[in-house]
Amino acid sequence: MNNINSNDEKELKEFDENHVWHPYTSLNSPIPTYHVVSAEGCLLRLDDGRELIDGMSSWWACCHGYGNQHLIDCITDQLNKLSHVMFAGFRHDPATVLCKRLTSMLPEGLDYVFLADSGSVAVEIALKMAIQYQSAKHPERTRFLTVRGGYHGDTMAAMSVTDPGSGFSSEYQSYIPKQYFIERPAISFHDEWNDSAIEPLALYLKEHHQETAAFILEPVMQGAGGMYFYHPQYLVKARELCDRYDIVMICDEIATGFGRTGKMFACNHAGIVPDIMTLGKGLTGGMMTLSAVAVTAKIRDGISASPAKVLMHGPTFMANPLACAAANGSLDLLLSGDVCARTVHIEKLLYDGLKELTACKRVVKDVRSLGACGVVELNRPVDTVRMQKFFVDRGVWLRPFGNIIYIYPPFIISDEQLEACMKAVRELVHILDRDGEY
Ligand SMILES: *Cc1c(COP(=O)(O)O)cnc(C)c1O
Repeated sequence: MNNINSNDEKELKEFDENHVWHPYTSLNSPIPTYHVVSAEGCLLRLDDGRELIDGMSSWWACCHGYGNQHLIDCITDQLNKLSHVMFAGFRHDPATVLCKRLTSMLPEGLDYVFLADSGSVAVEIALKMAIQYQSAKHPERTRFLTVRGGYHGDTMAAMSVTDPGSGFSSEYQSYIPKQYFIERPAISFHDEWNDSAIEPLALYLKEHHQETAAFILEPVMQGAGGMYFYHPQYLVKARELCDRYDIVMICDEIATGFGRTGKMFACNHAGIVPDIMTLGKGLTGGMMTLSAVAVTAKIRDGISASPAKVLMHGPTFMANPLACAAANGSLDLLLSGDVCARTVHIEKLLYDGLKELTACKRVVKDVRSLGACGVVELNRPVDTVRMQKFFVDRGVWLRPFGNIIYIYPPFIISDEQLEACMKAVRELVHILDRDGEY
């Protein structure tokens, strides 16, 4: 496939358009795709030679950018030794070392790790664990509680705790289990805390704790449900309430883990320890798919006390050695520099570079940044396809969704590259503000 002539290229493009599914798009009216051929550092290279500055970290996974030599070496090394083996009955160092390192980094007490294959699967496992923990103690507790504005993945149970208003799950409502939703934490990250913000949760739990197995949420930074940052004190209060009623607290750090929010884990902003934490996306530095579910001794013991005694889950590619080797390489990179200082620096650049857009009152609702994530929230949704072309024409790769234009760069992005992303966003928002149309 290395030497495709232009005819083949045309044929492949057509085949892709007509036969290959891309996320959230229709094969009957395909959305144009850009043909990427390689990537290095913070640059994505297209087949026509154009280079795009990556402001998305490839859906938030490639935190070290592309083609990092250390990650390539870790994987290549492992590839020559053992690329895959079943995890039932075998152990291998890439997995053991990874779990040992994770438990030493995670909030104190999250000492037991299950390795799975993707973020959504990690969420499924976390929910299964919570049900199983409760099955020994409170078997009637079978529903989940979550906050609005959340996103937890595209599989069935993960969808059931994703905001039903976000569109991810509306088509499947007739099938997916009904869960409980309370309003999203009302006080934003940078505003002053007020105890009234915990009342919806307190009231709900007072009435419904006997039906509720677990409370699941993204700590501090909600992602695909709207890029909203809320006050860490909410997590402190939620932790107290979950303890009071023996509700399992699940923090989904799939998007926020590994320095993204300016702390190694978003839970660190609040100093809390959830009962279960899910990790994914940046876990391997975006080199391949892997996720992890870490739990405390309480959950470990609860599952052992359940009728089945063991967690009934065993993915075929559980603890894939190549993925574990990539994750170990990514941890080397994260721990060798001060990643949080870097993301806090990016937070400041993002805010300074975007805040002038609050003046565009006709179209802009809010401008905010936290860690390596900068958001311009508009009053109305934009056309993703048109916006994407606008950005590609300016040499940057950004993909707005709904009414959210955001920059979520690899941590290695240079200040100049970040400025190029922000310049394109400013230009777009000024045009929208001037023309009043999207
Ligand atoms: C992306 C994401 C998931 C789903 O992960 P996949 O690897 O896409 O299955 C779950 N939870 C959160 C918070 C996410 O951002």
